[in-house]
Amino acid sequence: MVDVVVVGGGVAGAAVGALLGRMGIVTRVIDPNPEPLHDFRGEKLEGGQLELARRAGLDHAIRAVSTPVGTLWIARRGRVIDRRPDPQVDARYPDFVRAVRGEIGGSAALEVGKVASLRLSADTQRVSLVGGGEIQARLVVLATGLQPALAASVGLTREVLSPCHSVSVGFDVACPAGAFPFPALTWYSADIASRIAYLTLFPLDGPGGRVQRANLFVYRQLDDPWLRAVRERPLPVIQDALPGLADVIGPCSVVGPVHVRKADLTRTGASGVPGLVTVGDACGTSCPAAGTGLDKVLTDVLALARHAPTWLRSPGMSAEKVASYYEDSEKVRCDAWSLGRAWATRDHALGSTLRLRARRRLVAAAQGAVGRWRAVTR
Ligand SMILES: Cc1cc2nc3c(=O)[nH]c(=O)nc-3n(C[C@H](O)[C@H](O)[C@H](O)COP(=O)(O)OP(=O)(O)OC[C@H]3O[C@@H](n4cnc5c(N)ncnc54)[C@H](O)[C@@H]3O)c2cc1C
Repeated sequence: MVDVVVVGGGVAGAAVGALLGRMGIVTRVIDPNPEPLHDFRGEKLEGGQLELARRAGLDHAIRAVSTPVGTLWIARRGRVIDRRPDPQVDARYPDFVRAVRGEIGGSAALEVGKVASLRLSADTQRVSLVGGGEIQARLVVLATGLQPALAASVGLTREVLSPCHSVSVGFDVACPAGAFPFPALTWYSADIASRIAYLTLFPLDGPGGRVQRANLFVYRQLDDPWLRAVRERPLPVIQDALPGLADVIGPCSVVGPVHVRKADLTRTGASGVPGLVTVGDACGTSCPAAGTGLDKVLTDVLALARHAPTWLRSPGMSAEKVASYYEDSEKVRCDAWSLGRAWATRDHALGSTLRLRARRRLVAAAQGAVGRWRAVTR
């Protein structure tokens, strides 16, 4: 019998393993992939996320595999209006996961396997593996990301708050001139008809590199013909929708595949279930355009690390006991903030009311003024 089985070794499950392992809690993290899969997920950690990673003791490992941006160029209304210092660090998602998995140690270990089913109770949890074998644990942490099957099998309901809330498009861009003229660039759409939130370009393989990653966030249905055109000819279609962009990025070409992912906003209700908690995307998803997924992941992990040691000190793992995790004030605040950001980012890009139009103009004017002041003082 172990203390905790973590199902899933993505960034959330791996971080739980790392933190509990340091606390001496006997933990097994189970994931079918010995090497993290190349999937399109969060590829940057921004200021607040780096602070959460620091609190979790994971920032050194994450920085070691990341490229720092240093300066971010911001474009609104068709031109670059600010070049601001930016703490963000960028890496491909599997590199983030590999870095966090590397922090699993002490009384925790990562094991290759796929969990087939769970039998939960207020006392002992039974975790069955595909191909045979069972692990008994006092607590199960479900960190299975977007895959709902295991959660559904133990009666957890996944509430879809906003289906296809946004669509993310990711691809690599190469600059034949040798290096891009900017360290990183975020380009906001000036036209609500484009249904684009923004395009962001950032280095993944060393600063000033020939290849940058491009992430585009749009509000369209997956079968929209415009998205089909983006899949086939990403740069011309995006440059057409974002006037001025082509002049700033210069001649460049797409290298490698174009990934298109839709994001539903979901929440998985897990209160009333004994012996189990959900973390990261398994607990609730976020909107990639709002960029709050890794805040949620790290906040969940820190909350769990605050509560789990107390639960394990006394017998049993009732639903009432684990409820303190879902009621954790920092987690409740972060979940609400993430949801609010998802709707606010969408409203900012699409809103046609007088108030939202005025707000967009005000944001662009304020950022332009700050940019001019920064340029003068520089
Ligand atoms: C396109 C896209 C762009 C994003 N961009 C950003 C961004 O810019 N900023 C940001 O903060 N967030 C972003 N996010 C959100 C962020 O990437 C996620 O919140 C985060 O990766 C969730 O991590 P996780 O560990 O919960 O899930 P995952 O990384 O999906 O991990 C789930 C793990 O569970 C394992 N698993 C599944 N089933 C089983 C099973 N039966 N047995 C054992 N293991 C199992 C899988 O193998 C996997 O390793 C983005 C998300 C997407 C989709």
